[in-house]
Amino acid sequence: MNVPNYKDAKSREKKGVNILRDFSIEDDKKKIGNNKKYFIKTYGCQMNERDSESIGAILEEMGFSKVDDYEVADLILLNTCSIRENAHNKVFGMLGRIKRLKEANPNVIAGLCGCMAQEEVVVNDIMNKYKWLNFVFGTHNIHKLPTILSEALENQIQNIDVWSKEGDIVEGLPVKRDNNYKAWVNIMYGCDKFCTYCIVPYTRGKQRSRLKEDILSEVKDLINDGYKEITLLGQNVNAYGKDFENIEYHLEDLLVDVSKTGIERIKFITSHPWDFTDGMVDVIKNNKNINPFVHLPIQSGSNKILKLMGRKYTKEKYLELVKKIRENIPNCVITTDIIVAFPGETREDFEESLEMVNLCEFDAAFTFIYSKRAGTPAAKMECDISKEEKENRLRELNQVVNKYSLESNKKLINTVVPVLLESKSEKVGMLMGYTDTNKLINVKASDDYIGSVVDVKVTNVRTWSLDGELYE
Ligand code: SF4
Repeated sequence: MNVPNYKDAKSREKKGVNILRDFSIEDDKKKIGNNKKYFIKTYGCQMNERDSESIGAILEEMGFSKVDDYEVADLILLNTCSIRENAHNKVFGMLGRIKRLKEANPNVIAGLCGCMAQEEVVVNDIMNKYKWLNFVFGTHNIHKLPTILSEALENQIQNIDVWSKEGDIVEGLPVKRDNNYKAWVNIMYGCDKFCTYCIVPYTRGKQRSRLKEDILSEVKDLINDGYKEITLLGQNVNAYGKDFENIEYHLEDLLVDVSKTGIERIKFITSHPWDFTDGMVDVIKNNKNINPFVHLPIQSGSNKILKLMGRKYTKEKYLELVKKIRENIPNCVITTDIIVAFPGETREDFEESLEMVNLCEFDAAFTFIYSKRAGTPAAKMECDISKEEKENRLRELNQVVNKYSLESNKKLINTVVPVLLESKSEKVGMLMGYTDTNKLINVKASDDYIGSVVDVKVTNVRTWSLDGELYE
């Protein structure tokens, strides 16, 4: 039994990173899933989605086959997110439903993984109130799933194996991708920024970058498999390479090398303003297949609150960066994340966030009410903002954000944009896809265009999506 420990999770002493390349599944574990079906529910960010693609592939190598309905599954696994309270609530709601299933059929195997498994409070809860859950593992030992699952089944006792550590890099895990045309490519794991409200540095370990060779070989394999688009993934991709000891090789260098592979479309997420260099702006500008799309969380427009958050940049610096990107890459779409009602945020601080939205005219923004995460420094900060006031601020912010999202889309009417068509749309006779600037679009086209990057004339827009027709 290994349970999470925040003291170990937040240590950042060890120099260097182990790269593990010896993943394999023992023969006796390859039959465990024969004639059994598995269901994975993934919560949270793209990193979790990418992890679920490997977890699914491992289960399939153990003989399981995938189903999309948890009620008919023999094995149910929740890949969880810790970023906000509502993610927690969703998971505990789902655990309630799984409990009823297991009461009806005790042979159902249930497990939990992801960031919530790395939280001390959650695992304590599981050990006390969810004894029926068969196994729990964390973000650092996905490669140990075959052993963790087989031990849980053999011993018929709850198997909790969560590692709180700085973290290694595990190369060579199998992957079963959810999309046939665009793929997530991890370039780094973990984060060392320790923004005061954020649980990620505790749940995902220290900042550690994959070697360029491993990333480029994955990209080349994807090209050979017909993929059109990749998104380079990390909690803070702009810190890529900072942990390399003997070489100066950073995100902009990697982007140039990935661009040279010839993949049609390249995106990267998530950026941190603090590490976003001028070199990045030039690389996006000068490489056609690097899409003009930047997700750049600001979190607050008040320097006082940015300081309390530990974000290490000022609103002036942020604005300067947005201006630089817009001047050099005119059609670049810039989206952001904003938190309202952070402890200590006054009405005036909040209005500074509104003002930054007006100054930056974001193309879209993801907005949230601050959510206290146990173990983070901000959790100790006093917050006297009423529930009503919190909701008022979120509503007010969304009105301003939506205004600019619609304006951003209106600028595209009658223009021609490149779109990767991914699947049938809910709209009859239409396909859905995303533009190079990551805007959702429904396009009048026949199914044989699925998987192609096509030129589309934008015919209609809404706040969060576009309509268009093929422009041939
Ligand atoms: S940079 Fe992002 S992932 Fe890292 S601590 Fe800050 S908010 Fe969390």
